[in-house]
Amino acid sequence: MYTAIGYAAQTATSPLAPMQFQRRSPRPDDVALDILYCGVCHSDIHQARNEWGIAVYPLMPGHEIIGRVTAVGSDVTRYQVGDMVGVGCMVDSCRSCKACQADLEQYCEEGPTMTYATPDRVDGSNTMGGYSSSIVVSEHFVVRVPEGLDPAAAAPILCAGITTYSPLKHHGVGPGHKVGILGMGGLGHMGIKLAKALGAEVTLFTRSAAKAAEARRQGADHVIVSTDQAQMQAAAGHFDFLLDTIPVQHDLNPYLETLTYDGVHILVGLVEPIDPPIHAANLILKRRVIAGSLIGGVAETQEVLDFCAEHNVSCDIEMLDIRHINEAYERMIKGDVKYRFVIDMATLKA
Ligand code: NDP
Ligand code: ZN
Repeated sequence: MYTAIGYAAQTATSPLAPMQFQRRSPRPDDVALDILYCGVCHSDIHQARNEWGIAVYPLMPGHEIIGRVTAVGSDVTRYQVGDMVGVGCMVDSCRSCKACQADLEQYCEEGPTMTYATPDRVDGSNTMGGYSSSIVVSEHFVVRVPEGLDPAAAAPILCAGITTYSPLKHHGVGPGHKVGILGMGGLGHMGIKLAKALGAEVTLFTRSAAKAAEARRQGADHVIVSTDQAQMQAAAGHFDFLLDTIPVQHDLNPYLETLTYDGVHILVGLVEPIDPPIHAANLILKRRVIAGSLIGGVAETQEVLDFCAEHNVSCDIEMLDIRHINEAYERMIKGDVKYRFVIDMATLKA
């Protein structure tokens, strides 16, 4: 064991504060890394405040982790000390069920071990995430940062990137498709860039007309202000896919009406009941589908990193001093970030 430091919430109502804790010594299949950067995902806020009802305290968030390898276990073959690597939302899974065998560890039948607030499969300890100086992770759950990607800007690819890439790929999004992205925060801005890089015609749905110029700069072909009924109605029957990153309950019906027949509304932001209810006619009359998607598997996470390097896709980040993490949460809730905070872990030592 060795001592690490990080920022954690002790209860659902306490702010994040510095904490010392123990990281395990590397097991034979483990990679240890010094964390350089960690992105700040809205899920971190949901979890730190127990908005999903599954938090375990102390809760140390962070699942967009970039760092340098400092040690490897005796069985590790793919990484060496000094490599620039990433760790995303998961650190383990059963590795033998149908989903794990299909490289879909996120759908592990026994449930994946998440990067934070989940019991470790070997020693039962509560996993601690990337708002910290270091982490120790099984080699299978480590990905390589390709040359040519800025390491800090690559961090959000490990959650915001893969969460938007995976459903776009799964549903076969490509040239000729019209895709709507709902909400331009961390996930949404990556959704715009990735859908565009896959060849689709991309429209941002946003509450804020002020984001229109920004969205076009991200690559969006069109912008619809979702609070403007006339704009919503003018888009009726238009889209093949909607990728919905809105983190709170919202009325899906006006969005469903913008889908063509066989159109698919993919939910990634909402994990609560859909409220207000869906008018079933909005599905039946046009054979429309509502779908969901959870992050992506490890192999696909490597794929999206490589895809971003190849297509020159990068996240727009604001570097964050970890001492300002609580203010950063408030700013994210207000939508005041362009478009992902990334913690500079050097500030943890300060
Ligand atoms: P952000 O806070 O960065 O962005 C969310 C965006 O949604 C905002 O920028 C805003 O866009 C829009 N929005 C916010 N509040 C409202 C509201 N009240 N009504 C309508 N639109 C709103 O969040 P992230 O992108 O980090 O995460 C989005 C959601 O995805 C979170 O709930 C997160 O937990 C979830 N998530 C899901 C994953 C999965 O695997 N399925 C993985 C990672 C995250 P605008 O101003 O343009 O309207
Ligand atoms: Zn996330």
